[in-house]
Amino acid sequence: MKLSPHFSLAELTNSTTAQRLGLDNTPAPELLPRLVLAAEMLERIRTVLGVPITVTSGYRAPAVNRAVGGVTSSDHTQGHAVDIIAPGYGTPYLVASLLAPLVSTLGIGQLILEGVKGKQWVHVSTRSPEKFANRIITITDAGARTGIQVLS
Ligand SMILES: [Zn+2]
Repeated sequence: MKLSPHFSLAELTNSTTAQRLGLDNTPAPELLPRLVLAAEMLERIRTVLGVPITVTSGYRAPAVNRAVGGVTSSDHTQGHAVDIIAPGYGTPYLVASLLAPLVSTLGIGQLILEGVKGKQWVHVSTRSPEKFANRIITITDAGARTGIQVLS
């Protein structure tokens, strides 16, 4: 099932963790409109990047989210958030740096450069965080910092 021209429901619900643990990662029907909004956001991001996007994690059922160590309030469980990489464009840092000044234009509620050096991804959510300061952040093992930060 296509959610948008370049993104399918299968892509946005794929989870190797769910498969490995035999967990059902099917979203409730009422979450589908949110996943369509997320896919439309990905289309806009794809257009500015000019290359295909790889979804590394999209919707996560609560049990799947717990298994991957996601926070309980994660936007992934609500169908708002998607983790992406775009190797054809560059590193996650470069992708996040391109997107940061464009969040409002692209309808990105929250942009996070996440992970540790060598294993990083870009988290994008259609939902804006309550605190404006958390809209664009970098999260590593060392904690969260405002803005898109280079990892040392
Ligand atoms: Zn994420």
